[in-house]
Amino acid sequence: MVLHLGMKKYCINTAPIISLPIVGREDRFPVRRIYCVGKNYKKHVVEMGGDPKRSTPIFFTKSRETIVQDGSNIPYPPLTQNLHFEVELVVAMASAKDIFGYGVGIDMTRRDLQSIAKESGSPWDMAKNFDQSAPCSALLPRDTAPDLKTAKISLEKNGMIKQDSTLDNMIWSVDEIIAHLANSLTLTAGDLIFTGTPEGVGEVKSGETLIGAIDGLPSITVHYI
Ligand code: MN
Repeated sequence: MVLHLGMKKYCINTAPIISLPIVGREDRFPVRRIYCVGKNYKKHVVEMGGDPKRSTPIFFTKSRETIVQDGSNIPYPPLTQNLHFEVELVVAMASAKDIFGYGVGIDMTRRDLQSIAKESGSPWDMAKNFDQSAPCSALLPRDTAPDLKTAKISLEKNGMIKQDSTLDNMIWSVDEIIAHLANSLTLTAGDLIFTGTPEGVGEVKSGETLIGAIDGLPSITVHYI
């Protein structure tokens, strides 16, 4: 028998596997794609100047290389004077339809670049998908997770609560988001979904610490340097 597996040679180094720790387990969750939902909490749609009645969820993506582990120091990114935090429930997929588990993420946003992109009808990539723009907590497997329907979600900056809501304020539920995505593409094991942020988004500066939390899930802490 001739084994071909692993015999391919590549002209440059292959990309490392990006992964997240799993609560109570030794193995890790390898991240594939990252889908993010925009406009999923009415009060956040309003604070961004939108009309919540007419808003439908929008999707954008981040590269898996944007993942930042809990407890990291993050250099303040280039090209922005207005870096924003957006705390979000993160859903980790075990298959096209099955949820592996949940975590807490912070959808970091270069808000000034996003405003320019919105005005000119340009893509959001440079506002959303930049180095270290997706801090994410460890994942809690679904079978050990509490009922999250009304769980509190919050973001604390230097000890001050900046975002404070509950997951039942989501316009589109987790199941609806998954159904919506599944109509557009084939979700796959390893995919993460950032499910949108409640109101209270704001700026973070060098020297400040962010803690994103959802009741019953591991939290995410990052420090900007
Ligand atoms: Mn977001």
